[in-house]
Amino acid sequence: MPCIYGSELGGEPSPESWHGGFNCTYNVGGPGFRASSIFNNSDVKMDIYNKEELKNSSNVMGVIRGSVEPDRYVIYGNHRDSWVHGAIDPSSGTAVMLEITRVLGKMVKEGKWRPRRSIIFGSWGAEEFGLIGSAEYTEEYYTKLFERSVAYINVDISVFGRYAFHCISQFLLQNFVGHLTGAGSDYAAFIHFLGITSMDISYTYDRSKTKARIYPAYHTAYDTFDYASKFIDPGFTSHQTVARTAGNVLLRLADSLLLPFNCSDYAESLEQYLQVALDNFQEELSKHGQKVGHTFSFNVCCWAFFTIMFMSLYICHTCLKSFSLSFNRPYKIRRINDQLMLLDRAFLDPMAFPDKYAYRHVIWASRSSGLATFPGLADAFEGAKNSGLKQDWSKAHKHLSIVAQAIAGAASTLEEVI
Ligand SMILES: [Zn+2]
Repeated sequence: MPCIYGSELGGEPSPESWHGGFNCTYNVGGPGFRASSIFNNSDVKMDIYNKEELKNSSNVMGVIRGSVEPDRYVIYGNHRDSWVHGAIDPSSGTAVMLEITRVLGKMVKEGKWRPRRSIIFGSWGAEEFGLIGSAEYTEEYYTKLFERSVAYINVDISVFGRYAFHCISQFLLQNFVGHLTGAGSDYAAFIHFLGITSMDISYTYDRSKTKARIYPAYHTAYDTFDYASKFIDPGFTSHQTVARTAGNVLLRLADSLLLPFNCSDYAESLEQYLQVALDNFQEELSKHGQKVGHTFSFNVCCWAFFTIMFMSLYICHTCLKSFSLSFNRPYKIRRINDQLMLLDRAFLDPMAFPDKYAYRHVIWASRSSGLATFPGLADAFEGAKNSGLKQDWSKAHKHLSIVAQAIAGAASTLEEVI
């Protein structure tokens, strides 16, 4: 709601989490305008025209077949539909994708190069209507993608501004970047539903200087080529940086003998999550544990974490040792790569979030709590604290078990296979 109406409305100030980027009071509840408002006694008329129609929407796919491991996929995607002209969202990302496909396509056609693993490009349809194209794709090819995908790279809005390069990912790809959260773009189905290691790349504005969630013309009729070339990225140099970086990450994922995943980064990040959970939940959970008949404790969680830490170091060591054996031990390389590829899959628990459709990743599910820790545990703890109900404390304890089990299960996938 525009600022002027928000602060002129009657009623009480809204909760903090409802506030937008404008520096004004956002009132709710009314009715009508404040008694002292210049708009008092005036009416606001809103005309809304919606019609229900069936429309077709397509995903446009491109494939480069891998030369050595064609049944391992590195997926790169971006949506193609937009609210009005969509020069930045999504065309800044589409421009980057098309440039990468042009360059790689040329190398393949000239016979100069072919990737070790297959590369799949997806230009998704109907993202703005609820991530439909990418979600349908992951549902239709569920088993193939689940079994064979190495990683998913998303470049939607490639340039928000020209201040800093911004890259978010899951822990395994952290050596490239920071963390990926929420369900803001087409990576959602790949992470939350399929447990495929994902990342999102862009160039952005200085987030310390503004509360703005996004660039000013987002989802408006002003998001045009003229606007993009004059105000967002004159000279298109930031687009070029994103294309070079995304292309580089894509090539490393598709061509490296050993997948460039770092599981000790995963372990370190889990340790931070665990520490936040211990600091914030341990005392109260054990206090309520006895009352609701749960004796399961954080010790199990800590034990599970140390196993994964140990295993991640073990697998790093094995990888290094294997390197010299690489060409005459192809099955060994494949086995280690599969262990790395499936690590994120091991954190999927289809029973963990019965109220959240298609959310199954225990570490990455959305959370309402602001704490950087296990989302299900944080939300269940918050719920129990607010209600004080016995069944809610039980739920919080259940989420502690879910986390411990997921970590222990993931650690076991990194162990020597038999
Ligand atoms: Zn978009």
